[in-house]
Amino acid sequence: MNNSSKIYDVCIIGASIAGNYLAYLLSRSGLNIAIIEEHKEIGIPLQCAGIISKKLTQLIDVPEEIILNRVKIAKIFSPSGRSIELSGDEEPYIIDRVALDRLFYKKNQIKQNIEYFLVEKFKNFHYFKENNQKLIQIETARRIISAKILVGCDGPMSTVGKLLDVQNNTISAIQIRINENFDENKVYLYFDHRWKELLGWIVPEGNNIYRIGLASSRNISKKFKIFLNQLNIEIKNKISQQGGIIPIGKMNKMAFENILLLGDSACQVKATTGGGIIMLLSASKIAATCIIKCFKENCFSKNFIKKNYEKVCARTIGKQLKINYLIRIIFENFHSDDFDDLFKIIKTTKIEKIISLYGDMDFPRSLIFKLARNFTFLKFFFRILKKNPNLIYQIIITLLF
Ligand SMILES: Cc1cc2nc3c(=O)[nH]c(=O)nc-3n(C[C@H](O)[C@H](O)[C@H](O)COP(=O)(O)OP(=O)(O)OC[C@H]3O[C@@H](n4cnc5c(N)ncnc54)[C@H](O)[C@@H]3O)c2cc1C
Repeated sequence: MNNSSKIYDVCIIGASIAGNYLAYLLSRSGLNIAIIEEHKEIGIPLQCAGIISKKLTQLIDVPEEIILNRVKIAKIFSPSGRSIELSGDEEPYIIDRVALDRLFYKKNQIKQNIEYFLVEKFKNFHYFKENNQKLIQIETARRIISAKILVGCDGPMSTVGKLLDVQNNTISAIQIRINENFDENKVYLYFDHRWKELLGWIVPEGNNIYRIGLASSRNISKKFKIFLNQLNIEIKNKISQQGGIIPIGKMNKMAFENILLLGDSACQVKATTGGGIIMLLSASKIAATCIIKCFKENCFSKNFIKKNYEKVCARTIGKQLKINYLIRIIFENFHSDDFDDLFKIIKTTKIEKIISLYGDMDFPRSLIFKLARNFTFLKFFFRILKKNPNLIYQIIITLLF
């Protein structure tokens, strides 16, 4: 066991997108950073469909080669097989996710103040005091290191979170990459009662390669077989297969004494689609500002981190994540004919235009406010509530807490 006497300013657990990007943002302030990652190669294993809204390029500079394709239309299927096509000016990116994870890792490699510890599993932490200052002792499988701040960027099953009694509700996902002949301009989304906790997807990577996946709570392999059968796709023709875990819910607690949680570990994930990248990039900027402030004011208390990180996230991405979660709860209560009725209303009223004007893959709040003023939509929504009285209770609880 290697016991270093060096005290890092910040120790980040997890070198995926959240950990690497946060380290990159912090490196400019000259803080000494350690990153612990259990895997040997950054970005591997791949666990992503790689569909990201155009906000990506507003948040970070993305080299051209990371963007593999752009889609113009979302074709959404109801459980009965009816479909609707929606388009707007969103045109999401389909990205090379491994390359995105490596983008900031490579930039960080040349920074003197960032040290990576790969193939090293984080196990535990303890508080201790030195010169009257509270510090954290971090135990990995190979060494013990000390830091002033610990950041859990260790994904949906976060060990840092577990040690702080924070646990995510999670669902499982399976995805294959395969050569097929769908439309490269469209992303296909499939709602079904058997995978009502999220959805099935076909994402065009480009060059006739499609990422076909499904996320749900139980029996994921069985459900995925059903989904592929439905699409007439032979799994034996796959190029590769991925799996993964998606946290579903509202944002978790993220601020603790000398500790922050960021990304999937804090459930900064849209419950409508399972997408987390835009949310965690936004949260990383808030976390970096907070951490730099901690050092400026020499204050690492839970209240300080709560005020400068958790509450700022709650006011910004948190509100949007809550709406995403509400939409998820409503969809879970939909019957097959409710989807069909909704599609019919969208096609035959002004709603399609409202969606194309105000629809936002990540931030659905303004769309919801616009829809709430549409009489046909409101009538439909009240009919859903009447059919599912329990839903009213679920909505109130979600809005209140
Ligand atoms: C199948 C699937 C498809 C998805 N598709 C999309 C999509 O299309 N668009 C989108 O925006 N989002 C998508 N997501 C979600 C997105 O991938 C996540 O939101 C994102 O990866 C979260 O990044 P993160 O850095 O917080 O955590 P992760 O990417 O989970 O990274 C956590 C890192 O911590 C490391 N780690 C974990 N525990 C330890 C430990 N004890 N010690 C050391 N290291 C540890 C892991 O090895 C990993 O490198 C998808 C997720 C899945 C599973």
